[in-house]
Amino acid sequence: MTVTASLGNEVVDRLNEILDEPGAVLTSRSSRFNRARVPAPFPVHRWEEFLPDVVVLPRTTEQVSRIVKLANELKVPIVPRAGGTGLADGAVPMRGGILVDVKRMDQVKEIDLVNNTVTVGPGINMQTLNRHLRPHGVIYPDDPASYACALVGGRIGTSGLSLLGARYGHTRDLVISFEMVLPTGEVIEVGDGGGRKVRKSSTGYQLKHLFMGHQGTLGIVTEATLELVPRAETEFAAFFLFEDYDTAYRTFSKLAKSGLATLAGVMLFDPEKVDYLRRDDEAYIVQPAWVKAVCAVSLLGTRVEVEPARDVVMKLGRSLGGRYIGDEIASGDWAARHDRYANPLHGRDKNGKVIPMSWHCEDAAIPYSEVPEVLRKWHAIARRYCEQYEIFDDWGAFAYTNAAHKPWGDILLEIDMGLWEDRMDEYSWQAFVSLKKEIAQVAIDHGGSMSSCHGATRAGDAELVPTEMGASWEVMKAIKRALDPHNIMNPGKQSLDEAYSDGHRS
Ligand SMILES: Cc1cc2nc3c(=O)[nH]c(=O)nc-3n(C[C@H](O)[C@H](O)[C@H](O)COP(=O)(O)OP(=O)(O)OC[C@H]3O[C@@H](n4cnc5c(N)ncnc54)[C@H](O)[C@@H]3O)c2cc1C
Repeated sequence: MTVTASLGNEVVDRLNEILDEPGAVLTSRSSRFNRARVPAPFPVHRWEEFLPDVVVLPRTTEQVSRIVKLANELKVPIVPRAGGTGLADGAVPMRGGILVDVKRMDQVKEIDLVNNTVTVGPGINMQTLNRHLRPHGVIYPDDPASYACALVGGRIGTSGLSLLGARYGHTRDLVISFEMVLPTGEVIEVGDGGGRKVRKSSTGYQLKHLFMGHQGTLGIVTEATLELVPRAETEFAAFFLFEDYDTAYRTFSKLAKSGLATLAGVMLFDPEKVDYLRRDDEAYIVQPAWVKAVCAVSLLGTRVEVEPARDVVMKLGRSLGGRYIGDEIASGDWAARHDRYANPLHGRDKNGKVIPMSWHCEDAAIPYSEVPEVLRKWHAIARRYCEQYEIFDDWGAFAYTNAAHKPWGDILLEIDMGLWEDRMDEYSWQAFVSLKKEIAQVAIDHGGSMSSCHGATRAGDAELVPTEMGASWEVMKAIKRALDPHNIMNPGKQSLDEAYSDGHRS
């Protein structure tokens, strides 16, 4: 067995003692290389720098607690990893150390149909969980485009956005409580109230939200109790086509403000996105050249709710001149919402030649009123980088309703960029980092947040966390120091190393 010199075989022996199972402690190059990156663009020329020293696959909370205690005792970095689908590098080890892969903690521990909860390990994905729940007529409705591959632990680690969020809420609304191993190894339970199944309380501090979306910098989730909702009897999706962006944008707002309780989400494609789909997405069903923008909407619920709501949606979607795409494409495209992201694996170089590319997306939360101006600035930045460097391609932008149950205010605004990883060198990597920083700064300047759901853990974005947090940055650093005295939990993320400088060294 080989381990990198920085950790030594003694640590591996102690980890083997804790896990006591063949294949639960991995040190081979392939096991470590496979867990060094996520699907976001990556500095492949520096892959070796992001390797964990050792990978562990625990099954129980007690094992995780003992592993974390060991890391804390030895002051070794520790990085939680779930599905590894995060698009903000949250699960990428920045300083080596022990990578805790939670995939084996995939148990369904309790289905409680009286209180409508399910209790699971953090290593289960939503697709598998919903297969277990199907016979009971309920679902766990956290529904990202990465539905089949993101895991419950990573959803909590990122505080994710669900495509059904307007109807059922997002990850933070759907996770009722969870068990956490703190950076010192203690096990705590946090939730919306005292017990595991209480959804609202006024006792003490509301700690659940503190431990959501921290990207593994405050501990490791080892069990979660989740909300169950009745399986929808029916669903309906409508896509409307527009000759210009502005009309589509105003239609988006009308739909988002419809007041329909069954509204699951509203989406908007800008002209650059439609161009990109027409040009490079094999799944795109060809639409006439006059189509410059698309607005889509979905409804879920009981028949008695959805059927009349459908008429309201059709009227609103057409009210400013939108043209309905037809039932077959609308329902087919909505049904493929978990698959479409597999398509953009290629883009175009400056001369229009097809080349393999990886996908980068910015996922800001922007007030509705600011969306056109932010988009104008983002595309101007993207154009500048595409002209200057051969590795970039602008894949257009889309907007999605962001808030749960009241989807009319801020918008998830995402610009997608293609990146030619094969050509990545330090010069182009630094260009990518500064591109991201410029895009994130625009979001902040317009009263938004640089990340709605992926996290500000990437190079470039992380430097702007103090700016976005403002005066509360000091509180954030104090919390990190108090809970993680030695900065072992996913160090190097979100500028949090700053918590240990200036007289606060561990
Ligand atoms: C094709 C595609 C589509 C996507 N669509 C969406 C979408 O619609 N909505 C959306 O929100 N996201 C989307 N994403 C991004 C990604 O799927 C989410 O961020 C997801 O929540 C990450 O889950 P994961 O299990 O892959 O976590 P990972 O990538 O493994 O980890 C994410 C973060 O959580 C931390 N973490 C992991 N496990 C734990 C744990 N047990 N305890 C504490 N911290 C932990 C990690 O350290 C890391 O910082 C998409 C990604 C892809 C590739």
